[in-house]
Amino acid sequence: MKVLVAVKRVVDYNVKVRVKSDSTAVETANVKMSMNPFDEIAIEEAVRLKEKGIATEIIAVSCGVAQCQETLRTAMAIGADRAILVETAEELQPLAVAKLLKALVDKEQPGLVILGKQAIDDDANQTGQMLAGLADLPQVTCASKIEIADGKANITREIDGGLETLAVTLPAVMTADLRLNEPRYVTLPNIMKAKKKPLETLRPEDLGVNVAPRIKTLKVTEPPKRSAGIKVPDVATLIAKLKTEAKVI
Ligand code: AMP
Repeated sequence: MKVLVAVKRVVDYNVKVRVKSDSTAVETANVKMSMNPFDEIAIEEAVRLKEKGIATEIIAVSCGVAQCQETLRTAMAIGADRAILVETAEELQPLAVAKLLKALVDKEQPGLVILGKQAIDDDANQTGQMLAGLADLPQVTCASKIEIADGKANITREIDGGLETLAVTLPAVMTADLRLNEPRYVTLPNIMKAKKKPLETLRPEDLGVNVAPRIKTLKVTEPPKRSAGIKVPDVATLIAKLKTEAKVI
């Protein structure tokens, strides 16, 4: 079974994001970029499925600028067998990515597509769901466990108040949640091996997809600064301050 995994290049989760001075977007120039953390979990799960003998080939896909190649090399260092970069300088929104992935699903015919549950830059939580809709495939979002047998997958997800297990027939789309696994560290020998693995570059036109943005960002602003808190000596002072200063009671 082929497994297709979508990996996005995003601002590293340790970076404190800054808004561009013209308020059009978040600053990405000279900022450390990494693989979206949920996508690392998605790749790790695919590798574990291969180690169990369930997956036969893992294909990592990234859509975006040429530097996404680095993200794909990381995916191959974790264990993906080959990679596809859909290269474009256009700003990609979830619907455009879902359409590109749908075209690749048609081309590669994977038994399972794994995405992250959300990208930590746009926090959209949409691409997997849109892909499942476009490709007319069963979907399970926010997976925390997967068991595959006899062309079916039992996928557990964390919901309010407990765990839910859904059975889906394959091929299917799954999005990975934080507790699905803990990704392995990338070792130097595997980084070296990944350099030799095949990386194909396509353009959206090659897949017949128009990726023009459908949503216009009007303005990006910093959240309002929080003023410093104070400590009060006792409950009476707290009540007095809530009444007279904060005027909330
Ligand atoms: P989002 O819907 O933007 O929160 O993204 C959810 C998931 O879709 C991510 O965790 C990735 O697995 C995948 N994805 C989104 N954008 C891209 C992209 N440009 N390239 C590859 N995968 C992507």
